[in-house]
Amino acid sequence: MHNPIEDSFGRQFKTLRVSLTSVCNMSCIYCVTPGIIQQAPKEKVLTTSEYLEAIQKIHQQVGLKTIRLTGGEPLLFNELPALIKGIVELGITDIKLTTNGLRLLAQLDSLVEAGLKSINISLDALDPGVFRSISKVSNIRSVLDAIDASIERGLEVKINTVVLKGVNDHQIVPLLEYASARNIPIRFLELMKMGYLHYNESDYFFSMDEIVERISSVTSVAKMKRAASNTTTYWQTSKGMVFGVIANESEPFCSDCNRLRLDSFGNIYGCISASEGIDIKEVTDEALTAALQKALAQKQDYFTGSEISMKYIGG
Ligand code: SAM
Repeated sequence: MHNPIEDSFGRQFKTLRVSLTSVCNMSCIYCVTPGIIQQAPKEKVLTTSEYLEAIQKIHQQVGLKTIRLTGGEPLLFNELPALIKGIVELGITDIKLTTNGLRLLAQLDSLVEAGLKSINISLDALDPGVFRSISKVSNIRSVLDAIDASIERGLEVKINTVVLKGVNDHQIVPLLEYASARNIPIRFLELMKMGYLHYNESDYFFSMDEIVERISSVTSVAKMKRAASNTTTYWQTSKGMVFGVIANESEPFCSDCNRLRLDSFGNIYGCISASEGIDIKEVTDEALTAALQKALAQKQDYFTGSEISMKYIGG
């Protein structure tokens, strides 16, 4: 690495989140504008070799440690195993996936064989009716089976739950018990002001304090120190359970953020709150350095949200 790209707070890019497609096979009420039917994008999306080229060029300049493949729904990207293999060949072995799990069971073996080590599976409810009311799909069974199969296959598995007041906040304790029974961590996410929710002071917002209070009503809890550059603060319960909260709103973790995002159209974003991507398709090495510096300057002190929905920028 010749040019350390670092800002005045010492922030660098070490984790790349790639939104492999903006399309999803769920229409979660906090991510997809109600009433909108998701369609294939009109713009040209990157191919596997274009992703690998972009990742290689970024890696050469910043020395990436981790790649998280996400979306939209990354399991809708047809060449996912080939992409994972290609990233391993670039020398980056810490490859993680964030998925809704709907298509995971059928693809699990090929993903593990390609080199996948860690997976975050989104699960907003255990109650099938609540799950359907949020995701707009019915087959929760596919997701639950995929979680158990991933654990059996030896993957590091975490559950992600976005908590929505009055919709699934009563699922917090059952979900924590479900994760604990499988000995896997669960992280509860505060709702972020993204996409169509950006200008709505959302009635759905359920804070970190409310999440912790809800769990404290059934077991006492002790807060652990957040690890540097981690999005999650963890708590240990007296019943031996561990849960995390990703509290973008209540306890922003921007000060040591090391994340860079790449969307499926070849734009990078230095911050989840950035309102515009920076095009890195077909750029020279010098132009990429300038683009990375511009992206780093997008980093903020506090989470402000953006009009861009998470499915474009990669959650
Ligand atoms: N489709 C995959 C999934 O469901 O995990 C990956 C993409 S999804 C955008 C990644 C994560 O972002 C999911 O856990 C989802 O629940 C979360 N997410 C999306 N919009 C959000 C919002 N406005 N606030 C908080 N979390 C959000």
